[in-house]
Amino acid sequence: MNCKSCGNSNVADSIVYGYSVKECQVCGYLYGESTILKKIEELNKAKEMGIDPVIYPLHTLLSKVANFKIEYSCPGFPKEKIAPYISFSILDSKLNALEQLIQALIQANKKTKVHWMVEVTFQKQLLYILKPNFHHDPYHISVEQISISQKDIEILAKEIEEKFQIVF
Ligand SMILES: [Zn+2]
Repeated sequence: MNCKSCGNSNVADSIVYGYSVKECQVCGYLYGESTILKKIEELNKAKEMGIDPVIYPLHTLLSKVANFKIEYSCPGFPKEKIAPYISFSILDSKLNALEQLIQALIQANKKTKVHWMVEVTFQKQLLYILKPNFHHDPYHISVEQISISQKDIEILAKEIEEKFQIVF
């Protein structure tokens, strides 16, 4: 096949972020299933923005909710027993986006391996933390539980995307 982008015939099988695609060896144009190409594009964006690809789907969605401001996002570090989470503040007094987020969470929790919750705390202002609820203290969370919760992130992102009808 010839590359659609540059016309060169040097298009070969390639693995990008673990996905099998075909790649033009001259201009780097990728060919493959549209869902995989979309995924690769997202991972490239994550890299550019310096956000860990694990948390990127949630980070990017929540950052698109008009009155949410992401304070910090953590992809989770199983070996250090740190769970994935995103903390955010709400820029005005309207809580309807939060309500929608919680509704999406309730739906997502029917499919996720770990139960997810939004914790409210106070650090100079109200701070909301989307995180897995392990029901016990952090010292007793297993490495495996954290790895499992990281796999939930895509499921959560999908529910939130549908709920807010966010268009990319
Ligand atoms: Zn090309």
